[in-house]
Amino acid sequence: MAVVVIEGCIKCKYTDCAEVCPVDCFYEGENMLVVNPLECIDCGLCEPVCPVEAIVPDSYPEAAKWVRINTDYSKIWPQISYKRRSPYPQSEAFKGLKNKYPDHFDPRPAAQQAGDAEESSRSKKAWGLGTRGGTKA
Ligand code: SF4
Ligand code: SF4
Repeated sequence: MAVVVIEGCIKCKYTDCAEVCPVDCFYEGENMLVVNPLECIDCGLCEPVCPVEAIVPDSYPEAAKWVRINTDYSKIWPQISYKRRSPYPQSEAFKGLKNKYPDHFDPRPAAQQAGDAEESSRSKKAWGLGTRGGTKA
């Protein structure tokens, strides 16, 4: 089993989840993250840290269409293994909004933000978590 990211993440993208994932299986779009379900080890660490409850087991009914979206976009969006310093602009306004996918889903990969990786590496070490290695987004 795996978890997937669902609609609540769109235009919120707080990225707390990427910080705690021990296998770095989150991938970043312009306004949301997804999980690669084949890489997720179902450790459960990310679900409770998401402020908008946007991470659910792939077996849940609300996950149905999101399994495909997570699978497809995790192949083309860049990996993210750290918490960004800021959530998506206006994230509070989009928090809890229903049915965001038709109007607000953005298929573009995330633009890189200078300095985030450095901050993250300090933070992930503080948690006692390693990274999978290789180039981090
Ligand atoms: S913690 Fe939740 S809202 Fe934040 S990026 Fe992860 S899934 Fe999206
Ligand atoms: S359940 Fe664990 S392995 Fe899967 S995405 Fe969340 S933190 Fe990563």
